[in-house]
Amino acid sequence: MPLTKDTIATTSSDAAASHALLVKAGFVRQSSSGIFGILPMGLRTIEKIEHIIDEEMQAIGSQKLSLPLLLSSESWKKTGRWSGAQGEFFHLKDRKDTDLLLAPTHEEEITQLVGSELRSAKQLPIRLYQIGRKYRDELRPRAGLLRGREFIMKDMYSFDATVEEAYSAYDAVTAAYYAIFRRIGIPFVVAEADSGNMGGSKSHEYHLVSSVGEDTLLTCTCCGYTANEELATGHLKTSPSLLENTPVEHTHEPLGTYEATHAMEFSYAKYTGQNQNNEAVTGYTVIVTPKGRTVNLLKVQTSLGRHLQSKEKIQDGSSIELNGVHHKTILSIPEEIKKSDLHVFLDNGVMPLKYTLAQSGFENATVHAADHYRIAEAGDFCNSCHEDGKSTPLSSVKAIEVGHTFYLGTKYSAALDCGFKVPSQPEKVPAQMGCYGIGVTRLLASVAEATHDDRGIVWPTSIAPYSVCIVPTHDKNVELHKVADKIYDQLEATRFLEKDIIMDDRKAGFGSKMKDAELIGYPFIAVVGQKAISNQIVELHERVKGEKNIVTEVPLGELEKWIQQRLSV
Ligand SMILES: [Zn+2]
Repeated sequence: MPLTKDTIATTSSDAAASHALLVKAGFVRQSSSGIFGILPMGLRTIEKIEHIIDEEMQAIGSQKLSLPLLLSSESWKKTGRWSGAQGEFFHLKDRKDTDLLLAPTHEEEITQLVGSELRSAKQLPIRLYQIGRKYRDELRPRAGLLRGREFIMKDMYSFDATVEEAYSAYDAVTAAYYAIFRRIGIPFVVAEADSGNMGGSKSHEYHLVSSVGEDTLLTCTCCGYTANEELATGHLKTSPSLLENTPVEHTHEPLGTYEATHAMEFSYAKYTGQNQNNEAVTGYTVIVTPKGRTVNLLKVQTSLGRHLQSKEKIQDGSSIELNGVHHKTILSIPEEIKKSDLHVFLDNGVMPLKYTLAQSGFENATVHAADHYRIAEAGDFCNSCHEDGKSTPLSSVKAIEVGHTFYLGTKYSAALDCGFKVPSQPEKVPAQMGCYGIGVTRLLASVAEATHDDRGIVWPTSIAPYSVCIVPTHDKNVELHKVADKIYDQLEATRFLEKDIIMDDRKAGFGSKMKDAELIGYPFIAVVGQKAISNQIVELHERVKGEKNIVTEVPLGELEKWIQQRLSV
């Protein structure tokens, strides 16, 4: 147990108590920036998390496999992801100058593998998963295991013949995820999510609510609507339908003088992509939002990407990048931008801008249908439960994402020839895919983050490194040690506590051992003192977050029964 008395330096941007505690309590050690060694205590906790995941994945017919960590770039070039998020990948070249990467994720690899075996729809469904290391070249690794550059993930992939079957796989995984997080015993929230560059259209995130989280969720206390801010929608007090009835003359007023929700903010950003011949495609977007609101760049990027694909200006399956956002009044947007391939996106919280745009030299712009192009904020009104004009304002919470499910459709299977033959057509039908992740090391850290108090970590019994720690009150009392050893053997012999007991036989004082046991966060501490010799009684301490331990004097003969009862609560 390499505990450390050092205070772990935390800066304001790295204020995760969990990281300091996991280091102090001997669960992890940093090797270099964002890269960690997992110590025995940490590994036991991780193995318990993995055991729960294994059981639930296998219960829905998913088989475990292990894919390589060193990946060829070939399949990544075929799906267009090699050029997409290059900055986040760890690239390397072998001595023949071949491009390789350290696995950031495995969609390409598994699709290629299944594609090489798949011939007929009769082989489907296929559900495969693995638990292993992944690599992302995070620019700013932070908060220890919460955002590292090397981390452990569970990733599962489903392959089905039809969309309906793929959706039923998605539902089965959803049920398994609920079971996993319930068994671990932590409160979690499920949020609708944007699928970002993963493709597909159905996506959910699993979060632990935590002030150190990097995600912002918007939730409605009335109907339970929960969504990541990148996807959340709400409406402003003045609803879009009212704005549509605004007289047209209104838009002739000098720009920038509209009041309150009628005021507008113009942002523009350059976009870049690739056409069929891999040549660069560039242009500009102007995004109009209510004054003071932030543009949802991801949403604009997705909409524009789809539009350009439908017009065959960029390759199917490839995406565009939006670079930088500049705020301007509409009249000061440079002429060269107005003359470029310009796309205007109107947020549905602003007025129609037809006349204004024409007057301002935007005649050639493509004006896209109004949509929710602003980031939703706390105080916007819930769209899911408005009735009779009444609606609940959304509130926002910070959260740590620990799981994610995606319906992928045929994005990867079509690009990597993973399909099956049907009698009526010569072309293969691509398989319908889903992918489903759980961040195992991140889950470890976020549970510590969610459960700690000022004495240390308070592990749920499901994943505590050991359920019971035996602490003799005196270091040098031979008779006491004999009794403690007997209790250890007695508890070890029970099925539910086998290999789940630890004896603190370090040469140290009783007080410091108790402090360490509370820091590490064992659910039960069995104190073996004089009463164990004279009266056959053990003092059992139960660790409770933010409160004094619950202390019970338990007769030796009833110890297993008593712990079992408490474990099953
Ligand atoms: Zn609601």
